[in-house]
Amino acid sequence: MLIDTVELDWRDVSPAWLGEARRVAAASGDLPRLSDVDVDVLALAIGLDATLVTDDFRLRNAFSSNGGHVEAAGVKKTTNVWAWAMHCTGCGVQSDVPEDVPRSKKDDVGSCDRCGSPLTLKRKRKR
Ligand SMILES: [Zn+2]
Repeated sequence: MLIDTVELDWRDVSPAWLGEARRVAAASGDLPRLSDVDVDVLALAIGLDATLVTDDFRLRNAFSSNGGHVEAAGVKKTTNVWAWAMHCTGCGVQSDVPEDVPRSKKDDVGSCDRCGSPLTLKRKRKR
């Protein structure tokens, strides 16, 4: 995973950039499935206004949904941008992804405020 023209130094990711990265990733709905490193990379790309070179589709989606420029590292370019929503497996209610969502590649992303059932992430159509 590379960012153009940047000497990577993870200690230099500012809290403000991380906050912005979380805001951007929450807005696109990708945040719950991003690792700490993913969020760091996103924060650097946003903070430095860099071109994000990655094949990680969630990173690409989050960054390009914010107007960022992404380039594929290997696979062919995708141009689709989508958004994710929290979807209740019980009552079916959909909600936006909050910035303080628990993040994990595997576990569920919380439970429903209304009925307590597990929430999952579902792709939703862009406005
Ligand atoms: Zn529910």
